[in-house]
Amino acid sequence: MIPESFIQEVLNRIDVVDIVDQRVKLKKSGANFVACCPFHQEKSPSFTVSPSKQFYHCFGCGAHGSAISFLMEYDGLTFVESIQLIANQLGLTVPNEQSGGQVQNDYSRLEEVLSMANKFYKKILRETPVSINYLKNRGLSGETARQFQIGFSPNEWQGLQTVFSDYEENVLQAAGLVQRNEKGRLYDRFRNRIMFPILNAKNTIIGFGGRVIDDNEKPKYYNSPETPLFKKSYELYGIPQAKKGIREDNNIIIVEGYMDVISLHQHGITNAVATLGTATTIYHIKKLVRYSKKITFCFDGDQAGREAAWKALNTAIEVIDDQMEFYFLFLPANEDPDTFIKKNSPDKFKTLINNATPLTEFIIRRLTSDNDLRSQEKKIKFLNSFEPIVKKIYSSKYRLFLIKRVSELLSMSQVELEKIIGEKFSEGVNIKIKYAPSTKNTLTAKRKYLLILLSRPDLFEVSDHKCFNGTSIEDEIFIALSNIFNSNNSSFNNSASIFASLSNYLEDKLIVELQTQVMDFGENIDLKTEMELVRSVLQNISSKRIQSEKLSALKNKSLSDLTDEDKEFLKNFKK
Ligand SMILES: [Zn+2]
Repeated sequence: MIPESFIQEVLNRIDVVDIVDQRVKLKKSGANFVACCPFHQEKSPSFTVSPSKQFYHCFGCGAHGSAISFLMEYDGLTFVESIQLIANQLGLTVPNEQSGGQVQNDYSRLEEVLSMANKFYKKILRETPVSINYLKNRGLSGETARQFQIGFSPNEWQGLQTVFSDYEENVLQAAGLVQRNEKGRLYDRFRNRIMFPILNAKNTIIGFGGRVIDDNEKPKYYNSPETPLFKKSYELYGIPQAKKGIREDNNIIIVEGYMDVISLHQHGITNAVATLGTATTIYHIKKLVRYSKKITFCFDGDQAGREAAWKALNTAIEVIDDQMEFYFLFLPANEDPDTFIKKNSPDKFKTLINNATPLTEFIIRRLTSDNDLRSQEKKIKFLNSFEPIVKKIYSSKYRLFLIKRVSELLSMSQVELEKIIGEKFSEGVNIKIKYAPSTKNTLTAKRKYLLILLSRPDLFEVSDHKCFNGTSIEDEIFIALSNIFNSNNSSFNNSASIFASLSNYLEDKLIVELQTQVMDFGENIDLKTEMELVRSVLQNISSKRIQSEKLSALKNKSLSDLTDEDKEFLKNFKK
């Protein structure tokens, strides 16, 4: 974990204009800089970078964010990698909260030893006919083996000693290449296995998967352990190789194994990635939707495959928003993608993909697979299993249409169904302030206050909370902002740093709306004076509200109960 204060420090010191300009040539336009958007196709520039607010915003496709998010989107880096890259440019050292100053924190050294090991494994593969034959028998071409940088770990206890003169060096253990037995002796983690390097989006090796060449040996597949670089619940196999295919197809296929990815790739299906021996997590999905909003989960056609698919669905519904599309593909019994594509043509596999089951359909099919809904009891049983699922669905549109569909299925009205299920929906992963489109064209005083604050975080005053005790979105946002200000020791000196924290509290659409409004806000006015004006308007509104509340309370009192103070209040109010 990188401390929050360090992230603020980085955002306070970096210039987003520099970061973007190094990658996309910017042109000055008024107070801002513009370019043709790197995230969508366009002829006239609608991609705008604000030096004073320190963020970018595209008026065409809605892409937006800080210097950090730009690096994540444009360079395909993770959050941590982006911070590191900027910190390097600024000459800062990234602190680590778990600290200890151990070797484990030295990411670049870890990357280095993994890359050296991979070179060694590739060399051994070329020198070992039995492993080359294995790959040939599985139908892999030399070109595919090179593309996926496949290697072979020798059948020796300390094979890596030929690469690393200091076999005892801690970094080898931290990288998961070497481990210690009970007697304290160090030995190679991977021996006599086909080696599949696992790369992150920027093409750096972060771990390995190893497969035996003799199926009698166990375990068949073996991965690197969790290391500072390699976290199974975040990483996927095949992203750098699949990037291009994903862009062309605008669809990502998730399969279960490395061989599936590689085999599909060789047969021209180049948009597949695999999880690494874990179920699909929300982090996997969140990572993938940055490349394409459409994901097809592919499973073996057996019972285990169906259960795995159902598990993936339960994760996917917590993340799905109105723009995402998820599909589920089931292969015939006893087939995996590798065996299927070898027996059938790539076109046949593509047909399966095109006919994959949409997410909502999968829910209905699953819940009706052993239930014909022919009695009241069966309908109740259906509803009991349907309820927890529909409540978890994050997207309101998906929820709505699923409820519509089920109400038809059970021959009841949508209103009745909603009443039974209750109104309290998803509070799972996304407990964020929800966006609601504004009906007014002009900014309300509260919204204006927030825009000033987001442009000039230093103008924040705790006492303003009195003006924000209502129930509007603005009130909720103010509370989120006070939380951020209160829980941070470091100061916020620009919009980007405050938005980075705010995105933990607000739905993405709401962030986009605020950034769009902030983008052109207050470039030509004195925000400090403006803030005082807005503040007095809000105080006025709030004191009027307090007065009218008091007035209605007094109206309910009998005359004899009124104190002198009450009478004075009423007298003044009438004036
Ligand atoms: Zn754009």
